[in-house]
Order: sequence, then C-alpha cells, then structure tokens
Amino acid sequence: MCHCCNDARPDPASYRFFSEGCLHCAARRIQFIQRTLRLAPSVTRDRCRAALAQAMALGLPEQEIRRMAKKSEWQLQQPAQDAQPASLPAPRKRGR
Ligand SMILES: [Zn+2]
Repeated sequence: MCHCCNDARPDPASYRFFSEGCLHCAARRIQFIQRTLRLAPSVTRDRCRAALAQAMALGLPEQEIRRMAKKSEWQLQQPAQDAQPASLPAPRKRGR
C-alpha cells in the first residue's frame, strides 16, 4: 500500500506529496499540477513534462500515466481487498 495515496485519500486535491515509483502518485502529480496549481499553460506543460520524465526515469510507463492523469477522478492506489495470504494452497481437484 502506498502511504502517499493513502494519506491523500480524504482530499487529493490539496495533498501535495507523491511517492516515487508509485504509478498512481505519478498520475496524481500530473493532475495536481494541472488542476490545483493553475499555472500559466506553458509552465504547466513544462512541469508536467518534468514530472513525467521523472516518473519514466523510475521505470513507470509513460502512456499509462498519461491515460490515468486524463481521468476525471483523482488517481489513488486502492487498498488491497481482503489481502490473501501468499501461501494459499491451490484448490485441489476432488475425485468422485
Ligand atoms: Zn501512491
């Protein structure tokens, strides 16, 4: 679970910390620059480009970030639902 995404959940529009290497944070950072900062268009473009370049340097997929940043809802990593133990045995086939 990403702490930044978790902490940003109540109010993502004003939460300004983004975890490095987190896809959702990278997308939310672009959204934050575009929606919350409201800078001049050329400045916004430059800051988004820089944020994207940073995320890509960390191995995050550019296209995916762009796609997520375009969505109307703020991008937050969802908590894992009922985390399953990793060592769950595979379902066994029963004989008749
Ligand atoms: Zn995150």
